[in-house]
Amino acid sequence: MDFTNKVVLITGAGRGIGREIAFSFAKLGARVAANDITPINLDPTVQQINTAGGIAADFVADISKKMPVQAMVSQILEQWERIDILINNAGVEPHAPLLELDAWDWQRTIDVNLSGPFYTTQVVGRIMREQGGGVIVNIASIAGRAHGLKDRSSYVASKMGLIGLTREAARELAEYNIRVNAVCPGVIETEMTAGLRQNEAMVAKWLEDIPQSRLGDPQDVANLVLFLCTDAAKYITGQAINVDGGKVMN
Ligand code: NAP
Repeated sequence: MDFTNKVVLITGAGRGIGREIAFSFAKLGARVAANDITPINLDPTVQQINTAGGIAADFVADISKKMPVQAMVSQILEQWERIDILINNAGVEPHAPLLELDAWDWQRTIDVNLSGPFYTTQVVGRIMREQGGGVIVNIASIAGRAHGLKDRSSYVASKMGLIGLTREAARELAEYNIRVNAVCPGVIETEMTAGLRQNEAMVAKWLEDIPQSRLGDPQDVANLVLFLCTDAAKYITGQAINVDGGKVMN
């Protein structure tokens, strides 16, 4: 795989899966436009990539709002003049029973996990159309498949919506040579799952349901994302692909 000179925008790249995706693209020669909502984790990530000989720049923006997305994309174009690949990775996952879920948490989840990818897809999609093509990968979740997840109503709804957006974007943007796919991770060892992973009984129950008997690591997700962005995947669009050790088989 070689992404030399490709410009890749990754949202939520300061930590976890997004950070791993950023490192992976940088190792393969891409110019990484790394986004996060604050510089706290983003700056060290970008610094580490550049120190290791890669090319990365930080673009702090709240992707749940349209104007910051437009401003961020303008800044990337000023710096690198194009965007070849968009990875919609930023996400939030509030836990609460449906009957107790705060309306603010509901709205925030939909704004970050679903409206954010809509804004980035629209703004970056127009640029890709002018450029003659591009690739978009949305990080959804197995929670967005038929599977669901208890006490995560806003998260499940947002990820099911994101898979729907993926399919519609793939249908509408194919004529511009833009491919759009979703990656659906299972339980991955990141900050997002750190609290839950302290519950040994819960982890044991998860492992019972995973044929490969292990949790995923961010590199497992990054590997699939990289593949989907290569020409080897040029006939794949509109798909939602699980990376979960076999937990969900649909
Ligand atoms: P994470 O460790 O919580 O990282 C998410 C990153 O997104 C954080 O740096 C976060 O910043 C950033 N972010 C949140 N809201 C943002 C916004 N409005 N604008 C820009 N950046 C924002 O999560 P992760 O585990 O790496 O998950 C990455 C993606 O994979 C998410 O979409 C998640 O739903 C999905 N996923 C994860 C798992 C899993 O088991 N970990 C499973 C399935 C799917 P702050 O920390 O400052 O909020």
